[in-house]
Amino acid sequence: MKIISIKKKTVIAVIAVVLAAVAIIIFSVASSSSAAAPNGLTVVIDPGHGGADGGVVGTTTGVKESEVNLGIAKSLRHFLTESGYTVIMTRQSDKDLSDGSGSFKQSDMRARKKIIDEAHADLVVSIHQNSYPRKEIKGAQVFYAQNSETGKSYAEIMQRVLNGTLNSDRTAKSGDYYIIQCSDAPSILIECGFLSNPSEESMLVSTTYQQKVAYAILTGVRTILE
Ligand SMILES: [Zn+2]
Repeated sequence: MKIISIKKKTVIAVIAVVLAAVAIIIFSVASSSSAAAPNGLTVVIDPGHGGADGGVVGTTTGVKESEVNLGIAKSLRHFLTESGYTVIMTRQSDKDLSDGSGSFKQSDMRARKKIIDEAHADLVVSIHQNSYPRKEIKGAQVFYAQNSETGKSYAEIMQRVLNGTLNSDRTAKSGDYYIIQCSDAPSILIECGFLSNPSEESMLVSTTYQQKVAYAILTGVRTILE
């Protein structure tokens, strides 16, 4: 009958409209959780050490500094990418960058410098963990190249943010580290905590705390560059 066929058409039309509305809602939810539009800024993250060079070692767990550095670096890459940054990592796995030519450390560092030079970065962040004979010493500390005024001001901003978010009470300092002196890009080196302090070590090995440190560094980067 005709009346029934009109009703059928109406029902089909209503279903189509509902499905379209659901599709729009799903699409908008999905797009709101994806990365922000690129902001035109590039950050190089350098997870210190790796492979044959594990860096310092945790006093209680024996964790390698290189592992903690990579954990924080990967989390920082995620947060920065979500915030619209272009991110370049000097390493993405537990491998060093040495090609076997010359001394191991020199070859590894040359490879990192090449990545930094080619990135034309707005900021280089090298991630490390500290160690000291006196176990009570703790806290995050930021270093800059001695002759870099920009590096100094960036390091001081980052230090303020880390002191405010990671219960740290340290001062940014100049440091004689190759990675923050090897290029023209503004560079800072962050010693996120002391693996020689048992309570700080127990936090630094946890994924949750590594994410907290990464988020604090993200806040510092945004304060510096935006
Ligand atoms: Zn280190």
